[in-house]
Amino acid sequence: MFNAMVVEKDAEGQTHAAVRQIGLDDLPEAEVTVAVEYSTVNYKDGLCLGSGGGLVRKYPHVPGIDFSGTVEASSDARYAPGDKVVLTGWRVGEAHWGGYAQKARVRADWLVPLPEGLSTRSAMAVGTAGFTAMLAVMALEDHGLKDLHGPVLVTGAAGGVGSVATAILAHLGYEVAAVTGRPETEGYLRELGATQIVPRADLAETVKRPLEAESWAGCIDAVGGAMLARVLGQMKYGGSVAAVGLAGGAGLPATVVPFLLRGVNLLGIDSVMQPYDNRVRAWARIARDLPMGKLEAMVQPATLADLPKLGADILKGQVKGRVVVDVN
Ligand code: NDP
Repeated sequence: MFNAMVVEKDAEGQTHAAVRQIGLDDLPEAEVTVAVEYSTVNYKDGLCLGSGGGLVRKYPHVPGIDFSGTVEASSDARYAPGDKVVLTGWRVGEAHWGGYAQKARVRADWLVPLPEGLSTRSAMAVGTAGFTAMLAVMALEDHGLKDLHGPVLVTGAAGGVGSVATAILAHLGYEVAAVTGRPETEGYLRELGATQIVPRADLAETVKRPLEAESWAGCIDAVGGAMLARVLGQMKYGGSVAAVGLAGGAGLPATVVPFLLRGVNLLGIDSVMQPYDNRVRAWARIARDLPMGKLEAMVQPATLADLPKLGADILKGQVKGRVVVDVN
């Protein structure tokens, strides 16, 4: 028997999350059984620990969209006992049981080998949030970020995606302007490498003029909504915005004018169904371009028992940086 954070739904449709003992036979059928070492907390985990947010199909459910650990048993030739592995995405922790347990059983296709230079703990300090931040950086680079001059804007900067994006961009030598609604995180964001702090309120109003002063060479946007619409009108000629999240809303009250008159690109970033080769490429870039000292400064350690509160906090935008959950 081993510990797992199990979410159950009662007859009234209310969900309840608690640490319980489960057995190997309770785990879903799949090729690889992993002794989980670490997991983390993303916005989706907040949903799956609570109401389910339309993501969870069946109860009881074990959430946890990310985990790292050591292979314990494998019927797939690509993995053998003792291999260190990382999992993000593929709807694990949503449609399939996830990483908030001391053991998980998943498809071999969903795993990637732990990249050289990362520990299982640092891989979870990165997690889906950091992996997505790197995909966004790669997308901006593929669209000519290096040739444009000026600051790169990061919205939702004190959150998980934003914190890692800020650290990577600064490490690569870009000037980073960090948008935050929490002025008390200014010191933290400057430590990560931001050179300019933009108060959230400055970008909160809806678009009044489709084009404003050309301010940003690129943008990694975790917020969406009215903020993304405003940012589109502030991009430099030919600049790209990587749209990653919807912390501020799923709408996009924008005009097409920035696309037509300034050649602005809006790049969609999905981490969940990302093909294997690009996953390996992104993890290798993380091991190379994310300064580990700065990564450590973002970490808030936690245990399985802390998860219900952390899940509620992340839904309110109150988690700073990255939570690393030691499931043991
Ligand atoms: P966090 O909650 O850690 O960060 C989100 C940040 O957004 C907050 O910390 C806050 O930053 C800011 N924010 C929150 N609410 C608002 C608001 N109403 N208006 C403006 N800003 C707000 O979440 P993550 O970083 O883990 O994820 C960020 C987003 O990216 C989420 O929407 C998530 O679902 C999405 N995501 C998408 C992925 C993909 O594959 N496309 C993968 C991972 C995440 P501050 O306090 O600094 O203002």
